[in-house]
Amino acid sequence: MKNDKILASSFLILNSIFMSLLPPQIVSVIEEFSKLPGIGPKSAERLTFHLLRSSKASPETLGKSLLDLKNQLRYCTNCQMVCVHEVCAICSETGRDVRIVLVVEDPLDVVAFEKSGFKGLYHVLHGVLSPIDGMGPEQLKLRELHQRAQSGLIDELIIATNPDIEGEATATFIRNQLQQFVPRITRLAHGLPMGADIEFADQTTLREAIAGRRSL
Ligand SMILES: [Zn+2]
Repeated sequence: MKNDKILASSFLILNSIFMSLLPPQIVSVIEEFSKLPGIGPKSAERLTFHLLRSSKASPETLGKSLLDLKNQLRYCTNCQMVCVHEVCAICSETGRDVRIVLVVEDPLDVVAFEKSGFKGLYHVLHGVLSPIDGMGPEQLKLRELHQRAQSGLIDELIIATNPDIEGEATATFIRNQLQQFVPRITRLAHGLPMGADIEFADQTTLREAIAGRRSL
């Protein structure tokens, strides 16, 4: 264990010596890539040198796309989906059932449910409760959901957070906070996906499938 620590600190010292041999323009890009989730120092170095050498990768396009991402996008004032205007295209669309709101973790979930043909509205939380990752109620778009629920315009909230520990804790939290304002709060059915083989399903999935059974 002690040897591991000595090795790790020697690596850091060696790494900083090698980094000082590189031009600051390269070190700066490596450091920025390293701040991204899932990108370690090695991947950051590889990406930086790829950008430097590649004739296909355009630093201008990449830089402009990143600037546009931060400068031109905002959250819909109603559902918190990412969009360009004050209210997103889904909330602006006529003919949707505005009294049913599906609560999801992130914007990509909205895309998935749109493909499924869901015709209500959404509320994007932008995460789930996870104390280990520093995600409390204040970090999520829960205050905005509270305001929508209090308006009395929602008949049903469908909580569609992922079926894991954080997703379940978030669903329970929302139910406890909002059940006095919304007549019906439901959770997505869990169970067997289409095409699944029962023989290979795990115990939790089978238990959920039985609990979520419906009349034929
Ligand atoms: Zn919206």
